[in-house]
Amino acid sequence: MIGDHHHQHIENDPAYLGLNVNQGIEPLPSVSEDSVKRFLKHKKKRSLSVQQYVDGILNGDITILSQAVTLVESSKPEHQEIAQEIIVKCLPFSGNSVRIGITGVPGVGKSTFIEAMGKHITSNGHKLAVLAIDPSSERTKGSILGDKTRMEDLSIDPNAYIRPSPSAGSLGGVARKTREIIVLCEAAGFNHIFIETVGVGQSETAVNSMVDFFLLLMLAGAGDELQGIKRGIMEMADAITINKADGNNIEKAGLARVQYMNALHLFPATESGWKPKVLTCSAYMKTGIGEIWETIDEYLAHVKGNGYFQHKRNEQSKFWMYETINEHLRNSFYQNEQINALMEESEEKVLKEEISSFVAAKKLLDLYDQIKRNI
Ligand code: GDP
Repeated sequence: MIGDHHHQHIENDPAYLGLNVNQGIEPLPSVSEDSVKRFLKHKKKRSLSVQQYVDGILNGDITILSQAVTLVESSKPEHQEIAQEIIVKCLPFSGNSVRIGITGVPGVGKSTFIEAMGKHITSNGHKLAVLAIDPSSERTKGSILGDKTRMEDLSIDPNAYIRPSPSAGSLGGVARKTREIIVLCEAAGFNHIFIETVGVGQSETAVNSMVDFFLLLMLAGAGDELQGIKRGIMEMADAITINKADGNNIEKAGLARVQYMNALHLFPATESGWKPKVLTCSAYMKTGIGEIWETIDEYLAHVKGNGYFQHKRNEQSKFWMYETINEHLRNSFYQNEQINALMEESEEKVLKEEISSFVAAKKLLDLYDQIKRNI
């Protein structure tokens, strides 16, 4: 009722005091210089020393490991400096793991497989770190390991550590960082390392240069061309597994297995002397996972027996040394302002056939030498 409403208005209440002055409170002490200093000192203390990072990692502290990984991924020079010191101190505690590369086109079931295989590994008392090299990660959509709903069980498993691909940088840069992250994970006690990548491009070569075993996931009923898998990637594989061998797909998977086995026969013998195996599995139904694990074990026994395991790791170490030098030289050259200024001009002259490609290149390189001498 309108009348009642009028009476209920707060200003008509006898207790209403209108604008009223509340009792004040004690003013806060002004911020003294001392307290600022104390605050800053406290804040500074919170960023760890190199030794604290190393101790944390060696103790298997995942939070500290993650923070160190963030430093490795950072492009800030001051972060890189600390990261390199941490890596050097962790190196003596690294290397004691099985590093496995896993590739296949999007949709083949990589994350489902990693979850199934990962649980198999951790339930056998091992610790597993899952890293990724994703050349397409500037794209948020379809980015591997980016989706938090993937690997639901593994992501809450205390014996598993999942880290998405660093998103910035060239493939070479991302790959180098991943290799450094492997060192940290191994020092933290992860004795199994998975490196996931999308099987469509160059990233396989980078992954192959940092793993002991390379596993290619395929589907039945789709030609290699359809799956976008290049012959080179198949040649790198130590095992191929036909995934989604479940339901009425089992027979097709078996047929595909025979086809791939025949195809692999035509490939040149591998340096390791290992004959790549073709298997079937269902990541979804968790069948065939144990067999793949046994195959990896068999492979390790083979290559540790004939010395190839250590040989491959040595070659990888050398590869990454040269790769790092190459990347540094390339950047130093192409990011130089004076070089860039001459570059465009040289390109034009080459296109107009005023000078040859070689002369143009020589001039640029001579200028680079000169710049370096004057520094
Ligand atoms: P990724 O893109 O290679 O990581 O593939 P996902 O693991 O995300 O899997 C793609 C789709 O295939 C999802 O819908 C999965 O549920 C499905 N999938 C994965 N593995 C299997 C399998 O073994 N059998 C069946 N039937 N489906 C699977």
